[in-house]
Amino acid sequence: NRQIHLVSRPAGEPSADNFKLVEVPVEALAEGEVLVRNHYLSLDPYMRGRMNESKSYAQPQPLNDVMIGGTVGEVVASRNEHFKEGDKVVGMGGWQEYQRVNANQRGVLQKVDTTHIPLSAYLGAVGMPGVTGWYGLVKIINPKAGETVVVSAASGAVGGAVGQLAKARGCRVVGIAGGPAKCEAVVKELGFDACIDYKAHNDVRSLSKALKEACPDGIDGYFENVGGMILDAVMLRANAFSRIAFCGMISGYNGEPIPMTNPSLILVNRMKLEGFIVSEHMEVWPEALKELGGMVATGKFKYRETVADGIAAAPEAFLGLLKGRNFGKQLVKLI
Ligand code: NDP
Repeated sequence: NRQIHLVSRPAGEPSADNFKLVEVPVEALAEGEVLVRNHYLSLDPYMRGRMNESKSYAQPQPLNDVMIGGTVGEVVASRNEHFKEGDKVVGMGGWQEYQRVNANQRGVLQKVDTTHIPLSAYLGAVGMPGVTGWYGLVKIINPKAGETVVVSAASGAVGGAVGQLAKARGCRVVGIAGGPAKCEAVVKELGFDACIDYKAHNDVRSLSKALKEACPDGIDGYFENVGGMILDAVMLRANAFSRIAFCGMISGYNGEPIPMTNPSLILVNRMKLEGFIVSEHMEVWPEALKELGGMVATGKFKYRETVADGIAAAPEAFLGLLKGRNFGKQLVKLI
């Protein structure tokens, strides 16, 4: 069983040296345990925060242990009456090829149906990132038809879900993404009304001007994935009684300062700003997954995946995700 361990903590930008490939034998199963062959590993921006020593909303990733991470795979051996060989499952298997797990612990392993939905989608559109988009949009922004919703990191797993769910609710949807290729795909493939390449703008004024053109009626809802200059520019175009869902601030994940320049606009525009962590809202997952699963199964929901090959490729793929080298959900294919 090949695994990736975190062996040191980064100061600033992480590097491949923070990780180590380790090979260990697969141990025999105890009563109640299940052995899963992981097919795909999910790489997610939150993992950057876990690499730090300091406690955030979650505990740090321990050193010299398997990196935490969501996985999908197939049961290859079982000593648990609820799981049998061949079952497809989603869990938190970590950065490794096999996962030995006590499947009696509630929620640790979920069976999934791959008849109409590909297995990998349970890590993206029909998984944690999809529900994240759903929660911030539906429960915080709560848009009405005809309103304008903006989302940053629009080509990503979360951003793509936000935009398509907002379109399905009759909104005007404007994405913000890095580079012309991503922006073109966000409009042509994901069906957004417009997408702004933030890399083509050097300052808040210029980005805010582009937002004015793309959002002639102002911004009613903003789904924040990035922070910094993008947030400042959106604030300048926010309407009275607009709502911002604070989901991520990836531009500050390596410790960069991300000040907010005009907090007075929150008052002037009577805005609502709310942060959330999707795993603290398990009560909405069934409803969100039902909508997302239905859209994916019927082909209404479009998504891209960037797939790295083999467990050894996971660290580089993760570093790439933090630099925007991914296009849609970043996965590692393990089999
Ligand atoms: P993505 O698939 O969107 O990948 C991350 C993207 O962020 C990159 O592709 C890149 O796109 C963009 N990015 C990276 N650095 C910067 C930067 N400095 N400035 C602007 N954009 C940058 O990841 P996810 O969809 O998985 O996650 C999106 C966000 O949602 C993250 O902030 C994540 O932390 C957050 N999240 C929060 C959760 C919660 O419970 N609150 C749960 C899950 C995710 P580009 O090329 O366009 O720059």
